[in-house]
Amino acid sequence: MARRRQLYEGKAKILFEGPEPGTLVQYFKDDASAFNAQKKGTITGKGVLNNRISEYLMMRLMDIGVPTHFIRRLNMREQLIREVEIIPLEVVVRNVAAGSLSTRLGIQEGTRLPRSIIEYYYKNAALNHPLVCEEHITAFGWASTQDLDDIVALTLRINDFLSGLLLGVGITLVDFKVEFGRLYDNDEMRIVLADEISPDNCRLWDSKTGEKMDKDRFRRDLGKVEEGYQEVARRLGILPEAGVRDLKGPEMMQ
Ligand code: C5P
Repeated sequence: MARRRQLYEGKAKILFEGPEPGTLVQYFKDDASAFNAQKKGTITGKGVLNNRISEYLMMRLMDIGVPTHFIRRLNMREQLIREVEIIPLEVVVRNVAAGSLSTRLGIQEGTRLPRSIIEYYYKNAALNHPLVCEEHITAFGWASTQDLDDIVALTLRINDFLSGLLLGVGITLVDFKVEFGRLYDNDEMRIVLADEISPDNCRLWDSKTGEKMDKDRFRRDLGKVEEGYQEVARRLGILPEAGVRDLKGPEMMQ
């Protein structure tokens, strides 16, 4: 079989040319990095779990009408996606203070925010993904005002839906990062959810104990990193125990 052409290799994923025009294959690695690649490591099985978790969350979001780049999972580590023009923004939503918000503004980690806050970071590793505002985004042409309206509406829907879904399995969605892309269909352009949604780019805390089940376990050397990711998959009912086809519904917490 001919080797597929690799188009891009990131810290946690590789993108290959897809089988049909307009499609790509997204491969999930076990490699982990933090603090803009200053800290590097491997989380065994992370790629398999993130592929599965991201598939599950994107499918649930598609069920409620959120457009995404996701087509289908191909195997343990790969999924087929639509090729989109990535908007160079990391869109972060916060429900509870943590991470850089706590550091920057001196708000104690764990403080419930008065309302969900959306932040934009310019997707540029050389500049360390700086925080930017709407003025920068529209002035430099990274996205139009209309694009941003769509991004905010989609982001708030994603946040509301995922907060509820995760709370149902005893997980607080503290914050998360999403990326969007432009999908061209003949003359029409639609903004769709792209990249992935997984414990690599969400803060997920046990609702009762506050225990962290996300990449902060790796960033902050808390140990039991694999276990955190596995627990998220287990609670969602998608931990591949008896093979990848062993799909169970989510387990409800009392
Ligand atoms: O570090 P910070 O508090 O700004 O991160 C907010 C959220 O965005 C966290 O859930 C983190 O995992 C995610 N994030 C990300 N990629 C980055 C920066 C942050 O997924 N480059």
